[in-house]
Amino acid sequence: MDSLVSATKLSITQLAAQVNECTLCQLHKTRTNVVFGEGNLNAALMLIGEGPGEVEDQQGRPFVGPAGQKLDEILASVGIMREEVYITNVVKCRPPGNRAPLPEEMERCRPYLEAQIALINPQIILSLGNVPTRMLLETNDGITMLRGQFKRWRGGIEIFPIFHPSYLLRYQSREKGSPKYLTWIDIQKVKERLDRNRTT
Ligand code: SF4
Repeated sequence: MDSLVSATKLSITQLAAQVNECTLCQLHKTRTNVVFGEGNLNAALMLIGEGPGEVEDQQGRPFVGPAGQKLDEILASVGIMREEVYITNVVKCRPPGNRAPLPEEMERCRPYLEAQIALINPQIILSLGNVPTRMLLETNDGITMLRGQFKRWRGGIEIFPIFHPSYLLRYQSREKGSPKYLTWIDIQKVKERLDRNRTT
């Protein structure tokens, strides 16, 4: 892909076809399937994760493994269904062994994500964990500091960082102040903002 501009002229279907053939970074060598993203093309809420895991790589779909089930649970707790949202990742191919994507891989893949954001044009981006949050907000601050707050992205779309669902799978506690407890509060804020946007 030459540039973001060329990507945004494409339809989402054309963009997906282009990404499916992508060999711009080394992750193409080890992937089983490209995981482009899926969901409601008119979504008010777009979710961005880090990268595909093992199950996602096998199925070519985002958040279909255990973290995806946890994500569905988080959304359902405030009555948001998977069909309402659009879900994708920073990188579209699985990093081997579920390591974090490398900076170069993220930069190579970034125009695809930017084009997806432009095409979906959501009201709110739910940024899942450190990787997408740091990239989008151009910060080194961690998710523990950034979660639970709305930030404006390029003057328009709001970004709302929350813990990555796979992090919640590792910390089962629901005690006050635990990652799970905080996430359940955070998603309520997102739901309230979506409802408010709908009525104004
Ligand atoms: S991760 Fe992105 S840039 Fe790298 S090969 Fe896959 S689609 Fe291309």
